[in-house]
Amino acid sequence: MSRSTENTGFRCAHCGNAVEPVTNGSYRNHCPFCLHSLHVDIRPGDRQNACHGLMEPIGLRQGKKGYQLVFRCRRCGSRGVNRVADDTQQPDSLDLLLKVMQQGCEV
Ligand SMILES: [Zn+2]
Ligand SMILES: [Zn+2]
Repeated sequence: MSRSTENTGFRCAHCGNAVEPVTNGSYRNHCPFCLHSLHVDIRPGDRQNACHGLMEPIGLRQGKKGYQLVFRCRRCGSRGVNRVADDTQQPDSLDLLLKVMQQGCEV
């Protein structure tokens, strides 16, 4: 039995819900309830970014391993992507994913 240290739960800074770590071996940095994230990583999971701005979901795009959410940081404006979490506990809200997709944005 080994425990993953980088894949930990967190409390969403936008909606306040407790977010469990994903169970599919992937990595999640966004909230499944409101799809917001925090600008805390330089590389996924490293928590080395000092910005800590709220990252809004602005679109969906097709990645190599399925759909990815595209985020934009409200504070510094930089963008990030994270794989959609759909095969785990607390899957991403499908309603919100569809909404984000329909918004369509320049990704
Ligand atoms: Zn949230
Ligand atoms: Zn930022």
